[in-house]
Amino acid sequence: MRTYFTRLIGNEDTKQRLGRAIESNTLPHAFLISGQSGSGKSTLATELAAALNCIDGHSGMLPCGKCNNCRRIYDGNYPDVKILAKKKDKATLGVEAVKDFREDMFLSSTESENKIYIIDDAECMTPEAQNALLKVLEEPPKAVRIILLATECDRILTTIKSRAQYIAMGRFDDEALAEKLLATSAEARAMKAADEAKFMSLIMSADGRLGLAKALLNKRMSDEIEEERGDILSLIRAVGQKSSYADIHSAISRFPSKRADLLIALERLMSAIRDLTIIKYDPRAKTVFFPSASEAERLCGNISSKRLIALYDAVNEAHVLCMRNANITNIIANLASKIRLATNN
Ligand SMILES: [Zn+2]
Repeated sequence: MRTYFTRLIGNEDTKQRLGRAIESNTLPHAFLISGQSGSGKSTLATELAAALNCIDGHSGMLPCGKCNNCRRIYDGNYPDVKILAKKKDKATLGVEAVKDFREDMFLSSTESENKIYIIDDAECMTPEAQNALLKVLEEPPKAVRIILLATECDRILTTIKSRAQYIAMGRFDDEALAEKLLATSAEARAMKAADEAKFMSLIMSADGRLGLAKALLNKRMSDEIEEERGDILSLIRAVGQKSSYADIHSAISRFPSKRADLLIALERLMSAIRDLTIIKYDPRAKTVFFPSASEAERLCGNISSKRLIALYDAVNEAHVLCMRNANITNIIANLASKIRLATNN
């Protein structure tokens, strides 16, 4: 039996299922791949494109990774693999860009029998843009495969979802994440060599997400992360002490004001709240934010489950607003008032 999609870590079931579908010629024409940033969505899309166009049928691996087509696809140099993504400075992906992309699908292929169209940040497509895709998703031109990548599937129209096979990316376990990070980042290798405990703490904080692990690494680790950790702890303590709106607002205001950094801080806050919630049920549970369950208990174990759940919902809502490009000042004010409400219940 062949090994499938070796560039993608974990996700064994998905790899087997898709690999077999390619070999039996039963692969669907459209996919919606969902997962956090860094979870391997683009890697899977590229692996699918390579597997469909690989010309080495005798390799033990699919894709073989070595033939001319595989190499060009990995290098982004293959004319029949096309990617559409929103512009960095834009919040949405508009209907015109999607229509152009769609037109291209009807042109005859440049050289292969499998043309792959990948749309990144698919949830950023406006409803008009998503509607423009419907027809082609229903009946794609011969030899065309459409792959949508998304982090937030609740913004994708149900009509789109029902026409694409859904694939959820799994999170890495700590070991796989460490391995992947060490293989791809010199900074990570340097950190592990200098201070293994610090490196493992970063892996735990990343909670199975490669993208988050890389972002944490980029923050030059220790200092900023420790400072942010302190900010998260003081916010949770303020909740435990049923502090005033002003105190809660001032604790949140210490969070980063840059959107990308704020998202990370909110994700870490959610990990901390989740730790506090699970240790109530299992004192030996594995924690993500806190070094151990006993430390979580010692630092902020006095908050009731009901308040923790309300707190989690409030932070999750702020995270969604932040992803949708809402105004940062408003997000913080809204979060502070939601948390204040949650702490009084
Ligand atoms: Zn190949």
